Amino acid sequence: MSGATIIDGKAIAVRLREDVAAAVARLGREHGVTPGLAVVLVGEDPASEVYVRNKGRETRAAGMASFEIKVPATTSESALLEIVGELNRRADVDGILVQLPLPPHIDQGRVIEAIDPAKDVDGFHPINAGRLATGQPALVPCTPLGCIMLAKSVQPDLAGLEAVVVGRSNIVGKPVAQLLLAENCTVTIAHSRSRSLPEIAARADLLVAAVGRPELIRGDWIKPGAIVIDVGINRVPGEGGKTRLVGDVHFEDARHVAGAITPVPGGVGPMTIACLLRNTLVAAAARRGVALAV
Ligand code: NDP
Repeated sequence: MSGATIIDGKAIAVRLREDVAAAVARLGREHGVTPGLAVVLVGEDPASEVYVRNKGRETRAAGMASFEIKVPATTSESALLEIVGELNRRADVDGILVQLPLPPHIDQGRVIEAIDPAKDVDGFHPINAGRLATGQPALVPCTPLGCIMLAKSVQPDLAGLEAVVVGRSNIVGKPVAQLLLAENCTVTIAHSRSRSLPEIAARADLLVAAVGRPELIRGDWIKPGAIVIDVGINRVPGEGGKTRLVGDVHFEDARHVAGAITPVPGGVGPMTIACLLRNTLVAAAARRGVALAV
């Protein structure tokens, strides 16, 4: 095998953001609507602050309104629930995202469940998870949606593929598996208690790794020609005392076996914010009964 197609997540995310911006402009022109995304940040975690700043910049660049609500780490759960309630009521807010993780004194599940499902652009509300699982229109979690778009960029019809998802978290593994089922794949979900992970992985025409273990998946676990989507973001020691990012797949080995593979960084990562903007647009249109295809 001469080497896999490297799936360029950065370029695909740029195209998606452009499509979203064009649809936002159309929504403004034809319906006088400017979608608005509110991001709530509790505490001063520097990594989360960078994410929130990036989200704000990208939201404005797509022509949408961005609202950033920053509150101290000492904010009580009831005060945070009040903030979410107020955003639920605001007509200019179409999407609400509460940046995770939250401080330990706040029950994350309770906060997610307080978000109006119609504004739940992260797709974490149990109503949206249930709708996805039962094949109803739903706001779908951003990273899983990005994974499907990347897989479809190399094979538009995924029907009939043997798909293996390694990882079963509520934010990545499970929704990816549901989306693949909706694409008519035959889906296996593997996790830390799965026996014979290498053999399970080797069955996959489409392998999604969402584990959080650096380079766990080796080249010889991969079926020749498979599509490999690597969600993992792991920081490991690099040269000269620096650190570098690697995925859950051993990229250098896997690229000689796979048919197509996402790199880390530059694969799934850039799709997440682009899908968040897409979800905000979808939520804005749906709340006003406007039909839209993005
Ligand atoms: P979680 O830690 O919530 O879940 C990890 C999953 O992997 C669990 O289901 C766990 O199994 C499984 N697992 C752990 N070790 C093994 C093993 N040795 N063999 C098989 N399965 C194993 O992680 P997330 O789903 O939140 O994230 C996964 C990765 O994706 C992380 O690297 C994260 O940084 C990255 N990520 C990237 C995003 C992006 O690109 N924008 C967004 C979100 C996440 P069990 O359930 O049995 O414990």
